[in-house]
Amino acid sequence: MSSELEVTILTVEVMKNYINGKWVESKATETRDVFNPATGELIAKTPMSTREEALEAVKAAKAAYNRWRETPVFTRVRHLNRIRDAFEENFEELSKILTTEQGKAIDEARGEYRRTIENLECATSIPSLQMGYNTEDIAAGIDEMVIKQPLGVFFCVAPFNFPGMVPTWFWPFAIGVGNTYIVKPSEQVPMSQVRQFEIIHELGLPRGVLNMVHGGAEAVTALIESPDTAGMSFVGSSPVGKLLYKKAGEYGKRAQVQGGAKNFLTIMPDADLDRSIPAIITSFYGCAGQRCLAGGVLLAVGDIYEPLKKAVVEAAKKYSVGNGLEEGVQMGPLASKAGMEKVLRYIERGLEEGAQLILDGRGIEVKGHPDGYFIGPTIFDKVTPEMAIAKEEIFGPVIPIIHAKDLNEAIDIIHAVPYGNASSVFTSSGSIAREYQYRVKAGNIGINIGVAAPIATFPFSGMKDSFFGDLHGQGKDAVDFFTENKVVITRWF
Ligand code: NAD
Repeated sequence: MSSELEVTILTVEVMKNYINGKWVESKATETRDVFNPATGELIAKTPMSTREEALEAVKAAKAAYNRWRETPVFTRVRHLNRIRDAFEENFEELSKILTTEQGKAIDEARGEYRRTIENLECATSIPSLQMGYNTEDIAAGIDEMVIKQPLGVFFCVAPFNFPGMVPTWFWPFAIGVGNTYIVKPSEQVPMSQVRQFEIIHELGLPRGVLNMVHGGAEAVTALIESPDTAGMSFVGSSPVGKLLYKKAGEYGKRAQVQGGAKNFLTIMPDADLDRSIPAIITSFYGCAGQRCLAGGVLLAVGDIYEPLKKAVVEAAKKYSVGNGLEEGVQMGPLASKAGMEKVLRYIERGLEEGAQLILDGRGIEVKGHPDGYFIGPTIFDKVTPEMAIAKEEIFGPVIPIIHAKDLNEAIDIIHAVPYGNASSVFTSSGSIAREYQYRVKAGNIGINIGVAAPIATFPFSGMKDSFFGDLHGQGKDAVDFFTENKVVITRWF
């Protein structure tokens, strides 16, 4: 990909796969168009790689495995350090590419790359994270130890909403402990990963250790079915995730599957409203609502309902919408036309089901961008728990407000949805906060925090239909997912 890419893309390239240290043109006959969501311009094409191409990547990763596994751990993490430094040097360019293909505001893209780099930084501590354990004299003269060993070839399947960061929840840890790897980016936003791989290509990572295959179901199915892959990390929607989790089980593979979400923000009557509003607003409208940790429903408890509604509407009206590449813009477009149409359908559905639209973001005009996929901040009042906008993942800048009489009712409403990714409470009471974290079935809990996003040293959690598996991405969980504990019991005569 042209590294001069800044704001304008002059030629439309078909993205290449990266296999065994080389850029390879895909032979796939089917491609998927990639658009700049702020302008509607065609900016690239993604090849829908074939089964054979996916298996070529597996072959390369398998061939590289033994040598890489034998490479001392400090040498392995030195490669990660180099990649980390190179991403830092190219920070601005990477952030701009991300915004160009995904649409999010440039500061949000920078935030995403900060997190990407933190994952690399965390994985460089693998020499200490990876240590096993050792017990002497379990019987006279007999010692026992656990050693952690890599398993072979792993791969990830990534979503469209964080095209720069999500693969780094996994591969730095996977290769840090000695596995080899294949990244399958989202076909909707392939360019961020291509640019990352171009940077990595210059840094001398041994061939085959890290590979990339574009595409969709055909490539992913081949990766799961191959007898030479050990496991999969999936991030995306719950229906696809569930399907692939079952398939991975059928083929005896390790799998960690992070799915969709419907996150509730519960605002208690004793919340500090002035200080909570900015966190609430960015939870719903950050990344145009396309975050698995985004607010999905605003639950106003008791008599905070009226003042909260007023403050949220006022703040939402001030939220600026535009081309994410312009500094100061707070909210970019939806990432795709299909994504925008889906959100518009949910707004229609909310109206049909009797919710009251008190701020309508449809038809927002962004100067100079008549073909962008924009929807402005939108708010529904008088929402009830059985409405689709209260239960389903909208993935757009829409706040449905539900009025609950007390915390018990709020928690019942939260537990009625199948998801359990994140949930936040805004309160001044330690005991309410503690009760919330204790009772609410969600993997990531925020207390006076709008987006409870775990940093790289913590597991990226999730419960119910938001996560299938046991070990999560990032940190020590990732190290455990990518290694097997081998027990060795020793007696010397
Ligand atoms: P998606 O499920 O449509 O696609 C995700 C990936 O799966 C893509 O790479 C796609 O090519 C692949 N895929 C799609 N259908 C497939 C099939 N039949 N077989 C094999 N592979 C297939 O998800 P998306 O629209 O890209 O991402 C948005 C979703 O991701 C939202 O639901 C969001 O909540 C979720 N998400 C979750 C987390 C989390 O940590 N829980 C993080 C980010 C996004």
